[in-house]
Amino acid sequence: MKCYNHQETDAIGQCKHCYKGLCTDCLADLGSGLACKDAHEEEVELLNSLIENNKKAYSQTTKSIFMSNFYLFLMGVLFVGFGYERSKFLMYFGILCIGYWVVLAVYNFINLKKFKTDYET
Ligand SMILES: [Zn+2]
Ligand SMILES: [Zn+2]
Repeated sequence: MKCYNHQETDAIGQCKHCYKGLCTDCLADLGSGLACKDAHEEEVELLNSLIENNKKAYSQTTKSIFMSNFYLFLMGVLFVGFGYERSKFLMYFGILCIGYWVVLAVYNFINLKKFKTDYET
C-alpha cells in the first residue's frame, strides 16, 4: 500500500478515522491510534475517548446487573428456608431462584472477561 498523499512512498499505517494509508510524514501517532496529520487528529482523539467511555460504562453496567439481581439470590435463600419444612413447592422455587442467579452471574462474569481480553490485547 502506498501513501495517500505520496504515491511513491510506502504507507506505514492507516488513519483511524478515514482509513487512508499514510507514510511517516503524513501520520500523527496519538499513542492509542494513528491519524492524518493536521486533518483527523481531533476525530481520532474523540474516537479514543468514546471507546474509553464505553469500556467504563460496560463494566459499570455489568456490575449493576450483577448487584440488581442479587435479590434473586436472597429471595431464593429465603424461600428455601421457609419452604424446607412447610412447602416443597416454595423450596424448589427457591432453588430455582438461586440457580437462575448463579447462571446469570457466571454469564456476566464470562462476558466481562471476554470483553476485557478483547480490548486489552
Ligand atoms: Zn484521516
Ligand atoms: Zn505521505
